[in-house]
This record gives sequence, C-alpha cells and structure tokens, in this order.
Amino acid sequence: MRDFKYFRPRTLKEALSILTQERAKVLAGGTDLLVKMKDGLLRPESVMDISFLEELKFIREEEGMVTIGALATHSMLERSPIINTKAPHLAEASRSIGSPQIRNVATIGGNIVNASPAGDSLPPLYTLEAELLLESEKGSRIVAIEEFFTGPGQSIIEPHELLTAIRFKAPRGELLTFFQKLGQRKALAISKVSVAFLATCAADKKFLRKVRIALGAVAPTVIRAREVESFLENGSINEEMVDLAAKLCSEEARPISDIRSTLVYRKKVTGELLKRGLSQFIEGVIS
Ligand SMILES: Cc1cc2nc3c(=O)[nH]c(=O)nc-3n(C[C@H](O)[C@H](O)[C@H](O)COP(=O)(O)OP(=O)(O)OC[C@H]3O[C@@H](n4cnc5c(N)ncnc54)[C@H](O)[C@@H]3O)c2cc1C
Repeated sequence: MRDFKYFRPRTLKEALSILTQERAKVLAGGTDLLVKMKDGLLRPESVMDISFLEELKFIREEEGMVTIGALATHSMLERSPIINTKAPHLAEASRSIGSPQIRNVATIGGNIVNASPAGDSLPPLYTLEAELLLESEKGSRIVAIEEFFTGPGQSIIEPHELLTAIRFKAPRGELLTFFQKLGQRKALAISKVSVAFLATCAADKKFLRKVRIALGAVAPTVIRAREVESFLENGSINEEMVDLAAKLCSEEARPISDIRSTLVYRKKVTGELLKRGLSQFIEGVIS
C-alpha cells in the first residue's frame, strides 16, 4: 500500500468538513476498503477513519420508524432486539456475514456504500423500502435505497457526502420474514445468490397480505421480484403456490456468469431459495 494522509475526526461536523476539503476516502470498519487498498485496486491520497464517531453507532425506534446509524456493526444488528422483532430477516442477513471478527467491525454503512449486488444487508433493506440519509457540509438528502445504486460498486453518493443513517417504517402486524443465501462455503462466503422475503399476513399466518421480495447477486444491483410479489399477494399459501412462485422467481432473476457461479445455476437457485424459505413457513403452519 502506498502512503496516504490519514484523518480521524471526533465529530460528524469535523468529518463533513474534512470530506469537503480533502475528498478523503471514508474508512468505517475497513473490511472492504483495506482489502481493495492492499490489492492495489484503490490508491487514495487521503483516508478518513470514521470509526470513532460514536454518534453514528446506534439503532433506535421512535414513533414507528426504525433508524440505524451508519456505523452500526453487523454484530449490533444481529443482537438488536429492535431488529430481531421489526426486521428479523435483516438480523439473519447480518448474522450470515463473514465471521464474528468481521461482524464486530464491519458496518451496515460500509456494506451499503460498497454497493456490491452481493452485499447481504441490501436485500432485506430493499424489502423494508429503507431510506438513506446522506449528509454533507452543504446539507442533507434522503434517498430511497432502490434509487441509490447504479451498478456493481456504483452509487449516487458524492465524494463530499457521508452516509449517516438508514431508516425504515417498522412493518406492522403479523410478519413472515426470511433471508436465504447460497455461498461457496458455509461460512466466510460472499453470496452467489440471496433472497430476502417480508410479508404481512393474517393472524392465522395462512393468508399473505403485503409481500416484498428482493434478490441479491442476480443482477447488476439488488432487484425486487415484483411479479412474484403480486402473484403471492392476497393469496393463501400452499405447496402449489410455492412451486409456481419459485418458477416465476427464477424467471425474474437476471444473473450473469462470473467466477462465483454460472447464469443457469444462479437462476435455478434463486427459485429454490424462495421455495426453501416459503416451505419452512408452510411446515411451521402445519406443525
Ligand atoms: C473475510 C471477509 C468476509 C466477508 N463476508 C461478507 C459476507 O458474507 N457478506 C457481505 O455482504 N459482505 C462480506 N464481506 C464484506 C464486508 O465485510 C462488508 O461489506 C462490510 O459491511 C463493509 O463494511 P465496512 O465498515 O468494513 O466498510 P469499509 O471497508 O470501511 O468501507 C466500504 C466502502 O464504503 C465506504 N464507506 C463506508 N462507510 C461509509 C459512510 N458512512 N459514508 C460514505 N462512505 C462509506 C468506504 O469508503 C468504502 O468505499 C466480507 C469481507 C471479508 C474481508
């Protein structure tokens, strides 16, 4: 790694001022950034370490809105009572990331700004229709998560902006959620395909109301499977529907072949992951 200027702000105000003046590369947990710097893929002239900004390390719920500070780590998310009750699939996704050592330092903000279509917190956040708060010295803006990403590793964040928080309306009523992921190995594996599912359902859990499905690593950005959502919405859930939904889901995925997997395999697995999640739900209803 070549030499670079290093900044360590103690307050958000100071951090935004450094970003304006230096256009420094932001370092949160460093689990993506430092790998890229080591591999020579990134050679920033200055780096701003935001890991000391205590004001961005929180998870709270106020008036039906859940807000997560950008520096909340995956460990914080997997253990949070708020996330485990209001968005259990986001807790599951965080739990699936890397190893305990990685999860203790890696942040949700870094997972988002890294903008990999295989980033595991992204599909659950799509189903929650989360909003991102981007702040700079000039002001702030709120962006819907679906508007944030423009391609693999690409987003609309400007060099002078910091992602400071992620927020979503806490889903109300009976919830059915799951996060299913297929990686190369059981642990420490980046997703080949992932599926996040969020539905509100009738009290007997047999009839789905609002359905939200997001697919990871099957397109240049995470995508919503809107045809499958409409198909399942307002229907009662049974094995025949699950099979049809899985078929539809495979058709909706638009994957590429790369070093981790082939197009054909990814398409098939996308449907299978949806089926696996929904089948567990049916079994739960029957038992
Ligand atoms: C061994 C290993 C296993 C992994 N396994 C997984 C996995 O299973 N699933 C998965 O999704 N990921 C995985 N990752 C990737 C990584 O851990 C996650 O993407 C993590 O959430 C990144 O967070 P970070 O805080 O370390 O980000 P950093 O590396 O600090 O930053 C990542 C990018 O985001 C920018 N950035 C960070 N925070 C902000 C902010 N608040 N505002 C503006 N820009 C910001 C940085 O400039 C950089 O471009 C793995 C990584 C390793 C090394």
